Amino acid sequence: MKRLILLGASGSIGTQTLDVIRMHPDKFMLTAFGVGRNIDMFRRIQAEFPVSEATVEREEDAVLLRQEYPHMTILSGEEGMCSLAERRDYDILVNALVGFAGFLPTWHAIRSDHDVALANKETLVVGGELIDQALREHGRKLLPIDSEHSAIFQCLQGNQTSQVKRLIITASGGSFRRLSRDELRDVTVEQALAHPNWNMGAKITIDSATMMNKGFEVMEAHWLFGLPYEQIDVLMHPESIVHSMVEYRDHSVMAQLGNPDMRLPIQYALSWPDRFELEQEKPLDLAAVGSLHFSAPDTRRYPLLGLAYETAKKGGTLPAVLNGANEVANLAFREKEISFLDIEDILVRAVFRAGKKEVHDVQDLLDADAWGRGYADYLIRGTKQ
Ligand code: MG
Repeated sequence: MKRLILLGASGSIGTQTLDVIRMHPDKFMLTAFGVGRNIDMFRRIQAEFPVSEATVEREEDAVLLRQEYPHMTILSGEEGMCSLAERRDYDILVNALVGFAGFLPTWHAIRSDHDVALANKETLVVGGELIDQALREHGRKLLPIDSEHSAIFQCLQGNQTSQVKRLIITASGGSFRRLSRDELRDVTVEQALAHPNWNMGAKITIDSATMMNKGFEVMEAHWLFGLPYEQIDVLMHPESIVHSMVEYRDHSVMAQLGNPDMRLPIQYALSWPDRFELEQEKPLDLAAVGSLHFSAPDTRRYPLLGLAYETAKKGGTLPAVLNGANEVANLAFREKEISFLDIEDILVRAVFRAGKKEVHDVQDLLDADAWGRGYADYLIRGTKQ
């Protein structure tokens, strides 16, 4: 029986993690959980998976919930999440948070000797270097939930990373993959939110449309699997059936395939090295799919992919700046303050303007994140005038 703490329980990955627990009540047990502002969801989770401790985003919600659940310990804010991550009585933290907010809970979980099943790629984009060090020092593991990284992780089983020639991360191209750059000028949030293959949260669906998500996944792969950026490639694959591949030094290419269903990578992260049953309405039927397509990514069409590689190779605090600016620009687009192409413009300018510093401690990351957010804010106010 694995005891889990689930942060981000009311989001897309969070609710699918609850599904996995529901399917295997004899294998997984929820020990504590955290939600944001969805208090209704808090009540539903507590009714189905009663725990003694939980956390919410706002203290005002925690005050009300403490009256409603007098026997529970109810925490709030960043402190609440970090305090859950530091508990002794659990096996894996499932980090299903969105954005840089996911970094500190991961950090505290590892440093209090826990493994983390990670859906929050921003943790590694921003703080890969520090997380990597902490994992080594504490002899802990990160188990990938991101579908591409789960695929690579699966293809690496029984093999050695030292024999890998390259990782091939597949990319669907997002909601606008059929549009030219000219046609991107007037696209709307509603159009961007309709991802063709995956059912995901709003922030990541926009990141998929700009390909910022794929750029972040390249950085995530670098930190998870310890390979240099020269050995990590992106390949366009509109059907999202091949979830990623590993090419070995003898040119043998291993791929992991399946219908897009996030419950599989979630479950594998929790069951590894074992595999459990997973009920699917329609398991992959390649005869019905018929054909799969692949092509090289066009970095002029998707400039943020190129920017991500450049930023990643320079390293230091620059990825934290890029991520901070992206969180602000992504939200501003969703709130209709800026156009789709403004996102790219803001990110390119933020990274160009930022001075690179080395990362010595968490404060360096917090400072770079704040700088990226502040600069994006400034650019957005400028474009509105
Ligand atoms: Mg992914």
